[in-house]
Amino acid sequence: MEAIAPNHKTVVWHSHLSEGERFDGWLALATGEARVVVGARSAIFAPVRDLRLIVVDEEHEPAYKQDETPRYHGRDVAVMRAKLASALCVLGSATPSLESYSNARSGKYRLLQLTQRVDSRSLPAIDVVDMRIEIMRSRGLTTLSRTLVNAMQARFERKEQTILFINRRGYSSSMMCTECGHIEVCEHCSISMTYHRTDEKLRCHLCGAEHQAPMTCPKCRSPKIRWRGLGTQRVEEAVRRVLPRATIERMDTDTMSKKNRFREVLGHFRAGKIDVLVGTQMIGKGLDFPNVTLVGLVDADISMHIPDFRANERTFQLLVQVAGRSGRGDRAGEVVVQTFTPQAEAIQFSRHADFVGFAEAELKLRHDFKYPPYRHLIHHIFRGPNPEKLKFYAEQWAKRVEAVLGDRVELRGPSPSPIEKIKDEYRWQLWYFTTQVTKVVADLAKLRGEFTWPDDMIQVLDVDPTNLT
Ligand SMILES: [Zn+2]
Ligand SMILES: [Zn+2]
Repeated sequence: MEAIAPNHKTVVWHSHLSEGERFDGWLALATGEARVVVGARSAIFAPVRDLRLIVVDEEHEPAYKQDETPRYHGRDVAVMRAKLASALCVLGSATPSLESYSNARSGKYRLLQLTQRVDSRSLPAIDVVDMRIEIMRSRGLTTLSRTLVNAMQARFERKEQTILFINRRGYSSSMMCTECGHIEVCEHCSISMTYHRTDEKLRCHLCGAEHQAPMTCPKCRSPKIRWRGLGTQRVEEAVRRVLPRATIERMDTDTMSKKNRFREVLGHFRAGKIDVLVGTQMIGKGLDFPNVTLVGLVDADISMHIPDFRANERTFQLLVQVAGRSGRGDRAGEVVVQTFTPQAEAIQFSRHADFVGFAEAELKLRHDFKYPPYRHLIHHIFRGPNPEKLKFYAEQWAKRVEAVLGDRVELRGPSPSPIEKIKDEYRWQLWYFTTQVTKVVADLAKLRGEFTWPDDMIQVLDVDPTNLT
């Protein structure tokens, strides 16, 4: 920052500032005393005078979207604010969102490409392990493949370090066959069906289609069906069995609840006191450990099975990000990815970090199903103490919307939300797809005002949600 504004103050802006700190920062910017602000999502609203440049780093991050009121997307606000101020907006990412990429492709944005990595480092080699074969050979469910175990043992002997990632999504369970890799996907929406324990049904969270959960695989008839991905604890136990002399630490939201524990474990890891670090994505972000020469993604399928049309995009981003954690020092890195669906495009294209190849294939799929960026998506959430009442009113409302808005909007649902009940409150949802988002939002707002809602029912509209679960 010094290089940009040598004689000026830089303001740091995030939600953990005290009132006083926030006021000082606000004043410094508003008076022009400070000319650069660096901050989290809300920094986009900072009162910078004579704004010339906005940089949105890691623009694909879903965290730029605020999931509570006011529901805004920091990146979209940045683009609009830059436009209003005639300033330049730079969106940066190694794995851009498909929305931004398609804007660049159509000429709305200008595409600039960095063709070399930092210090001209080479990309680590990615080894994709087919877990279907692994399980057949071991005659049972294995957590760690032989490829991964051998690689970890070699690192331990050379006193190099290993990170094992598990992308855990606690509540949602999809159905996967461990014999052939088949996943139950909704034929209308191309997203994975979610298993509901209460009535043992598989349900699509976009259109509400449902059927009885099968006891055997619908494709190969195998009874070996898996309902849930691996957890960090099970992976930690498996590592202890194969590397009994190694120092192993687990890092996830359960073990990191104590303050400073996160920093402490990272400190030990950096100092080389830990051989293997097992954890969720929280250890993947922006950290640079030169002695880590092996990264394992233990269960790449978890992120591919989230009931979201962005599941492939998220998986590709995760894989590229995880691969970037390996071999950041002067030693070459290795990445092992375990999966039951090695042929998946998100996995194949990530092997060479081929973003354009992935984006083109994925955009074709989005186009076929008319998903964003080809249409806008609006999420309508209904909440209340009585599920029958929610269902009734959501259905009445959907009929009304269809009658008034006609073919300006396509409805899917209403159906129960992925998490049907939170703190004794039930949830239903409805989805709208449209190419005329501004008009449809205005129409929905007007209709909502005219519709008679029961007093104990809360409903919320979310335009362009980044998280479908
Ligand atoms: Zn099967
Ligand atoms: Zn569906």
